[in-house]
Amino acid sequence: MSKVIAVNAGSSSLKFTIYEVTSEDEVSSGLVDRIGLNDSNVVIKYGDGEKFETVTDVKNHEEAINILLEQLIELNIIESYDEISGTGHRIVAGGEIFKDSALLDEEGIKQVEALSDFAPLHNGPEAQGIRAFQKVLPGKPTVGVFDTSFHTTMPEKAYLYSVPMEYYEKHGARRYGAHGTSHRYVANRAAELMGKDIADLKIITCHLGNGGSITAVDGGKSVDTSMGFTPLAGITMGTRSGDIDASLVSYIMEKEGISDIKDMIDILNNKSGLLGLSGVSSDMRDVEAAAAEGNENAQAALEVFYDRVQKYIGSYIAVMGGVDAIVFTAGIGENSPATRAAIINDQMDWFGIDLDADKNDTRDEAEISADDSRVKVFTIPTDEELMIVRDTVRLANITE
Ligand code: ADP
Repeated sequence: MSKVIAVNAGSSSLKFTIYEVTSEDEVSSGLVDRIGLNDSNVVIKYGDGEKFETVTDVKNHEEAINILLEQLIELNIIESYDEISGTGHRIVAGGEIFKDSALLDEEGIKQVEALSDFAPLHNGPEAQGIRAFQKVLPGKPTVGVFDTSFHTTMPEKAYLYSVPMEYYEKHGARRYGAHGTSHRYVANRAAELMGKDIADLKIITCHLGNGGSITAVDGGKSVDTSMGFTPLAGITMGTRSGDIDASLVSYIMEKEGISDIKDMIDILNNKSGLLGLSGVSSDMRDVEAAAAEGNENAQAALEVFYDRVQKYIGSYIAVMGGVDAIVFTAGIGENSPATRAAIINDQMDWFGIDLDADKNDTRDEAEISADDSRVKVFTIPTDEELMIVRDTVRLANITE
């Protein structure tokens, strides 16, 4: 039976999920990490909670894929390579070129590589992953699914920064956003759960994971999103600062004696957010626990986090002239009823947004708004891999 592999390739890791095309059932998932180093872990999950694990040296992505595919046959997950009808690859930056997922030929892969400036840690390794799969599975269609594509529908007023226009014209300095595949999935799923055509709905999607972003989805299209030129902008995240006044950069560098701008950007990306404020952890569970024990900085971190999400929700209601549904997703959005309740608090009554405390006590897909809430609120586990597989099936015309 025909299968598609959704791939997330990093510089030293390769994560995969295999779906059966017709049923959309997940048949296996796993990863190879420490590629190019010693002692790579190879993990393959399959069947009814079964797991294969081994440690071996893996020189490069091509070797990782060979090991994986051979093991998939060994474990009877696939019978032969013929069963694989195509691969879909998560790609971080699609710039203004990739407005939808795309079937990638050699020219397309070169375009992915050329966009490396916008995602230095990602696009290069992702292109490397694609090339490796094409070597091991020659002739199988390859589809790129871009984190940014969903946001290419943003109007100019949302994506332009108020800086000299030539920076946009010459260098592509603009808002691109991220997490587009997740926002697209949960927005469409919310419309399905409401039994309505997404074209008629205004939805605010809150992807709250270690990284986080909020998107205004009007009529099924992203019209604004909180991440910016890079994922550093927007709400408070695990380790990222989110929005700050840019002049803080030179002020802090001067006061702290930081001479290299790269070090300052590293602080904003990796030492700020929940971690920087709380001094405890970037992990929401740890911050919640510390706050519950009376740690004041952890409590402050939580309050800043809630505040930023609320501000984006409020501004996106203004941007769209209303809202029909708000969706929470990703690690925090799916698993922390306390976060959802703190964001959709009494102040949201004015907008007609009201949570049902009992319904909110869940980690499953659910409508969690009060029966008389004017705006529906949902928690929806995101499924980026399923979107990658669906796009691969659609663009590669996989029929069975
Ligand atoms: P990533 O952006 O790395 O994919 P995830 O979507 O997995 O991140 O989200 C990770 C975040 O989800 C962490 O902050 C983690 O603490 C949080 N999280 C996971 N489970 C819970 C929980 N039960 N309660 C609160 N936060 C949780």
